[in-house]
Amino acid sequence: MTDDEKFMKEALKQAKKAYAIDEVPIGCVIVQNGKIIARGYNRRNIDKNTLAHAELSAIRKASKKTGDWRLEDCDLYVTLEPCQMCAGAIVQSRMRRVIIGSMNPKAGCAGSVLNLLQMQQFNHQVEITRGVLEETCSSMLSAFFRELRQRKKKPAKSE
Ligand SMILES: [Zn+2]
Repeated sequence: MTDDEKFMKEALKQAKKAYAIDEVPIGCVIVQNGKIIARGYNRRNIDKNTLAHAELSAIRKASKKTGDWRLEDCDLYVTLEPCQMCAGAIVQSRMRRVIIGSMNPKAGCAGSVLNLLQMQQFNHQVEITRGVLEETCSSMLSAFFRELRQRKKKPAKSE
């Protein structure tokens, strides 16, 4: 297993935490010097907060840990391609590299809809690695949405 796969597995563990609380399963870890310094998972519904994306929560924790808003020597692993908000924060934090599990053709901003991570007009560009453990990442998402559709079809038993 490569290091990228090893850390993506850790991001997947975070995604599972989101799955367990009925959130869209997206997970993220931030790595510095070969060590995980921050973790995050999507909590948008439970926190009732647009800002509660996995990446933002991990960035917040990483900055708290390092005592610096700059994360220049850090790499961010995320199970789904970042949205425009998170991609913006990633550029702002000067992250070195972003490693993505599955792409998000309808909303992703690391090459799908836009590539905010590599705009020459901005003062910072981020290296991107795509498709790490892609199968596992995307099948977790499709399983989640399949379950969600089935639950909506059937009348709820006891809620
Ligand atoms: Zn986001």
